[in-house]
Amino acid sequence: MAAAKLEDADALIDSVETFIFDCDGVIWKGDKLIDDGVPETLDLLRSKGKRLVFLTNNSTRSRKQYGSKFRTLGLTVDEEEIFSSSFAAAAYLQSIHFPKDKKVYVIGEEGIINELELAGFQCLGGPSDADKKIELTPGFYMEHDKDVGAVVVGFDRYFNYYKVQYGTLCIRENPGCLFIATSRDTVFQLNGVQEWAGGGSMVGAILGSTKQEPVVVGKPSTFMMDYIAKKFGITTSQICMVGDMLDTDILFGQNGGCKTLLVLSGVTSHEMLQSHNNSIHPDLYTNQISDLLAVKAATV
Ligand SMILES: [Mg+2]
Repeated sequence: MAAAKLEDADALIDSVETFIFDCDGVIWKGDKLIDDGVPETLDLLRSKGKRLVFLTNNSTRSRKQYGSKFRTLGLTVDEEEIFSSSFAAAAYLQSIHFPKDKKVYVIGEEGIINELELAGFQCLGGPSDADKKIELTPGFYMEHDKDVGAVVVGFDRYFNYYKVQYGTLCIRENPGCLFIATSRDTVFQLNGVQEWAGGGSMVGAILGSTKQEPVVVGKPSTFMMDYIAKKFGITTSQICMVGDMLDTDILFGQNGGCKTLLVLSGVTSHEMLQSHNNSIHPDLYTNQISDLLAVKAATV
């Protein structure tokens, strides 16, 4: 069924208890708010007693680091309301009781290492492998740690062949080693100027050399939906998922049984939404989240 344009913001707000917002392309683009109405929109929803949750597939930062980004942008958000795919990787390993004497090899940035260490896991790789190079000289043999029991792969601006080879050796040679992806995002708005290759490109490299499918912990996997619903004791039918990407945010909301609202302020254009090639249809769409303020204007 084709998505309907958001006309009655009041009815939407009244029909749900919790809003889960994606961040890139919804709340901000790079280091700027999507529009000046964002703080007022969040304030309005809070004043109506709505629970707000922020969920990003971007794993470069930890929850704590995202907390300071929200504050820098002038938004009052509690760190407990923020969930990132870096946190999801740690929460997933905890949920399966990943042994604390095993290690995790990280292809990704600081956020993943921070969250894993905060959860008490031993990590290798991450930013410390950023400058490593491999010289394929005759007879060169690369050692790897046999205690690595999981390889976590996320978006990584310092991706290199050393990391690919290290992760590949762990997955192929350590019995039972897990392959975990924080997300498989195609592209995202890193700096607000153009689209940049997302975490899916790093995950694809490891998939290519191991022929293994990863466990995805970020959107559209329902792992974080189940986690958030359980943590706050909410029913997913009482949630509205708000995002700018069809194959991550909207699919995540639909997989979880939520209402879905697509905003056109990020990577998805109106043409892409209406295209015959698109099979993912949100319940509603609108230009930007501050359109939810229409309710306020209408009642004045
Ligand atoms: Mg987004």
